[in-house]
Amino acid sequence: MMRLPAYLHQPRYWWGVVAFALINLGLAKFGLWIAPFVHGNVSAIWPASGASIAVLVLFGRRYWPGIFVGELLANVATLSLPVASIFGVGDSLAALLAWLLLNSYKTFRPQLDTISDVVKLTMLAAPAAALLAAGIGVVALIVSGDMPSSSGYSALGVWWLGDMVGNLVVAPAIMLFYACYAARPTREQITETMLLLLLMILVVVLPHLQWYGLRNFDPQFHLLFPFVVWAALRLGGFGVAMTVLTSASIAVALTLGEARWLGMAIPYTEVAHLQTVLVIISVPGFLIAAALAEHGHAEQRYLDIAYHDGLTGLLNRNSLLTQLEKMAEVTQRNGHDIALLFMDLDRFKNINDTLGHDMGDLVLQEFAQRIKKSVRSEDFVARLGGDEFTVLISGLQARDAAAAIAQKILDTMRAPVNLHGHEYVVSGSIGIAVLNATVTQQLSKSSRTNVAQELMRQADTAMYRAKRNNAGFMFFNSSMDINAKLQLRLENALRLALSLGQFELYYQPKVSTNSERIVGCEALIRWRHPTKGLVEPDKFIGVLESIGLILPVGAWTLRVACEQMQRWREQGLFVQRVAVNLSMRQFLQPDLLLMIDKVLDDTKIPANLLELEITESVAMSNAQLTVDTLTALKQRGIYISIDDFGTGYSSLSYLKRFPIDAVKIDRSFTQDLEHDGDDAAAIVTATIRLAHAMNLSVVAEGVENYQQRDFLLKYGCDVLQGYYYSRPVPADEYAIMLARGYCHVG
Ligand code: C2E
Ligand code: CA
Ligand code: CA
Repeated sequence: MMRLPAYLHQPRYWWGVVAFALINLGLAKFGLWIAPFVHGNVSAIWPASGASIAVLVLFGRRYWPGIFVGELLANVATLSLPVASIFGVGDSLAALLAWLLLNSYKTFRPQLDTISDVVKLTMLAAPAAALLAAGIGVVALIVSGDMPSSSGYSALGVWWLGDMVGNLVVAPAIMLFYACYAARPTREQITETMLLLLLMILVVVLPHLQWYGLRNFDPQFHLLFPFVVWAALRLGGFGVAMTVLTSASIAVALTLGEARWLGMAIPYTEVAHLQTVLVIISVPGFLIAAALAEHGHAEQRYLDIAYHDGLTGLLNRNSLLTQLEKMAEVTQRNGHDIALLFMDLDRFKNINDTLGHDMGDLVLQEFAQRIKKSVRSEDFVARLGGDEFTVLISGLQARDAAAAIAQKILDTMRAPVNLHGHEYVVSGSIGIAVLNATVTQQLSKSSRTNVAQELMRQADTAMYRAKRNNAGFMFFNSSMDINAKLQLRLENALRLALSLGQFELYYQPKVSTNSERIVGCEALIRWRHPTKGLVEPDKFIGVLESIGLILPVGAWTLRVACEQMQRWREQGLFVQRVAVNLSMRQFLQPDLLLMIDKVLDDTKIPANLLELEITESVAMSNAQLTVDTLTALKQRGIYISIDDFGTGYSSLSYLKRFPIDAVKIDRSFTQDLEHDGDDAAAIVTATIRLAHAMNLSVVAEGVENYQQRDFLLKYGCDVLQGYYYSRPVPADEYAIMLARGYCHVG
């Protein structure tokens, strides 16, 4: 069984066909009424053929049965059923041919805004379809005996041109009416169109009325052409369609309509003249409008490229700056605030480096979409390049709106991105700068440009801060400025510090709780600043981490600590274990083991004299990597302790998986042993018990007084470290303690 197309089952389709058939019937009757020509069966004007083409173009060629039915019904009253059916077939085929020709090579756009579409319609589809319909119709009339064959040629000519007028006047008018309805013409355009149409009627009809008594059948229709050109230049294709339609109405009313009214015959030449004038007026009009439209498209495309970001389709830096200046001006008047969100993906470089730039581009496109979805349509989203995006908003409550949008964007970022079947979570940081309306009110035009730049800078600074603090989003405040400047100076100074030899290692002894003998020490870095003196690591370790300098500095620390051990041995001292702190960056570095092996090899220090302190959070960040790395370190005999224990979220049972030797109870707990006896004491005693159950040694750091020492002694803590015994000291001072085996104090 043959399967029928699905649309045949839709009532909507059939209603469409019926409506279309009725329209066709009405237009055909109108044509037959207004301009019957050869034997009353051929009309000089045939609007139905244009309507047919427009309907097929706009709604699809499946609506062709409407043409057939309309045509049949229009002619069946005056002609036999077979002839009327052939008329129906001929007109349907003609419209289908037009549709085919229009959509050949490239899809036809009813906007008629390209020259190729206008050429296709006016020089290909319209004449060809008209010829097909006229040919079939005239042959049918002659064969059926409804018309003598001697009238064949004139009938063919009139029919052809009559359909042409329909195709060139009515089809574009319907199509452009549809297209422009979507484009919504402005009030000015509508007014201008009305004015133009009125002028056309005045120019052609008034003189004609005056000459009416002279029975002048030759009104000056060519006077209408300048109006069509005016419309083409000022109002585009729609204007042309309207003026052409008006021209046709005027012309038809003045010649054919009037003749009918007076019951007079019109000479064939007069009809042909009318038809050709209408054809000739319309074609150049549409061509001019299309040429201008193409020009506009090209310009628009240029603007698109100049103001858009090619990768994401968002606006670019140019448009952002332009828009910021514009907004600064508007807020001056309406009292609105402006907020600028500046956002940057965290660790985007990693994605680019490890997955390639194509994947990086996908991530950027994905986030551009997510940001777009998080803002209102009137908000201004731009990509500044790289992984930097901005959102610009203005309004009375711009500040609150900015915070809400920032939160929304951060929320949408939580969903992972799928790349090559792997899911990645990319986070971002946002900085927000707000420009107060009262501030902009005092600005001159030139300073508005600076304001735009300044706002960008502030938002950028806030973003940088948010990223550093892992804060999601942050508002700019002026204290950030000072900090940002200091930060930059600090970074530059640190870059120099290593090469200038400004770093030093201090050593803090660790003592056995029972005997108070030195069992080892921790190497702690210091920065001997040329003007500021000795700088503590808390002031610069974080910066070294963030700018990646921790890797060379960390390697330096390890090497210097080992070289120092070597020197103490050469001095004949009994060297105890020296602990070196490892930062997160160092721990994740692939060639960490190589670096350590090389240092041990160069300094001939046995691995069991080296201790590495890894903070709890480092160990937790990637459990499998941690187990692997720690196992490798352990195999070499290196002693491993977990630093700052208790500050993270890990439990001792979690640490069971790691091959470690000791835990160092964070000094905040030790300190609280006197102040907040209950809690800290409970945590410390529990830690000691559990650690011992797992065969781990327990170190307490930050021991500052004998009360703390006594408490720790009572509960069996193994090793103590703190100011009570000794502050971190330079190498030669530590050497003296090492020689004695005890610290100065006790
Ligand atoms: P940390 O690993 O927890 O080091 C112990 C810190 O506690 C040292 O601070 C030490 O001076 C201090 N301290 C020791 N006993 C007491 C005490 O009784 N009371 C108080 N209040 N503090 C005490 P420092 O030397 O300022 O180092 C701070 C942090 O900097 C270290 O904390 C460590 O995380 C980091 N650091 C130091 N040197 C290095 C290094 O070479 N590499 C790396 N990656 N980090 C280092
Ligand atoms: Ca430490
Ligand atoms: Ca510590």
